[in-house]
Amino acid sequence: MELRKDYLLDRFVFIATNRSRRPKDFVNPKSNETIEEKEYNENCPFCRGNEGMTPPEIGRINGNDGWELRWFENKFPITKEDGEADINTDDNFFAYSNAFGIHEVVVEMPKHNMQLWDSDIWRVSNLLRVFMSESRRVYQNDKIRYVLPFKNHGKEAGTSLAHSHSQIIGMNHIPKEIYEKTIKSNRYGSCEYCRIISIERNSARRIIETGNFVSFTPYASINNYEALIFPKKHVRFLEEIEQNFDELSEHILFILKKLKLLNSPYNIELIQSPKNLNLHLHIEIHPRLSIWGGVELSGSYVNVVAPEDAALFYRGGSID
Ligand SMILES: [Zn+2]
Ligand SMILES: [Zn+2]
Repeated sequence: MELRKDYLLDRFVFIATNRSRRPKDFVNPKSNETIEEKEYNENCPFCRGNEGMTPPEIGRINGNDGWELRWFENKFPITKEDGEADINTDDNFFAYSNAFGIHEVVVEMPKHNMQLWDSDIWRVSNLLRVFMSESRRVYQNDKIRYVLPFKNHGKEAGTSLAHSHSQIIGMNHIPKEIYEKTIKSNRYGSCEYCRIISIERNSARRIIETGNFVSFTPYASINNYEALIFPKKHVRFLEEIEQNFDELSEHILFILKKLKLLNSPYNIELIQSPKNLNLHLHIEIHPRLSIWGGVELSGSYVNVVAPEDAALFYRGGSID
């Protein structure tokens, strides 16, 4: 058993391998709500043919038979582009603003019975293209300080609709961990993540490496089988690597197809730089195979899968 600290964050995790299990012990036995037979569900607002059930469309990418990806405002938004965006305080303890921001849904595919891990490089590349163009657009709003594209897959990861989709949220503040990563990765002048990548690409935690990207399991992973994907080049926003989206999609699909073997619920976050700040862009994939308890609520974590074993699973692909 070991205690590890995150590369940069003041965040500790107990690597509790005495409770260790094999990958197949994690296979989510629930035939979860994402598995459905039918290509079309008449009650699903995200199915092709039901466009009238969603808020007005912002954009779409067409294929031969109609739209392939489609995005619009979230019907039940967390943030909205109205009201007071400045965070005020009445006194020492009570700070607030309106929940100012932009909250969109990106439907990743027209079919109801497919998931992102069943898809291909074309589709994932196009999803990245939507993240890129919408992030750029939303960042133009003066009051938006951070744009987070993310995906929830499976009930345990917080999704409410089975039809495969992602979300993009623009906020009037920088989320705490992202702000801390930004400050700490720049504390010595040059980017700390550039150094971390150069070490991890040759470590026991490596997953795969291609010409422009490297994937690995983080040293102090807080989730079982957590994975990171970094561009090797120091970039802040997706548009700087637009010509490499197919290659980045290969990494995403490589990891998701392994998670499919476990039928794992997961979250993906695309971490880009806050406006006017400098953070090395990366993708975080967080499988949600265990339930967090009291320790996790305190801000420390327990992980029963050593990141080195998680990387072996990814490299080997066997669940035994
Ligand atoms: Zn559907
Ligand atoms: Zn960097």
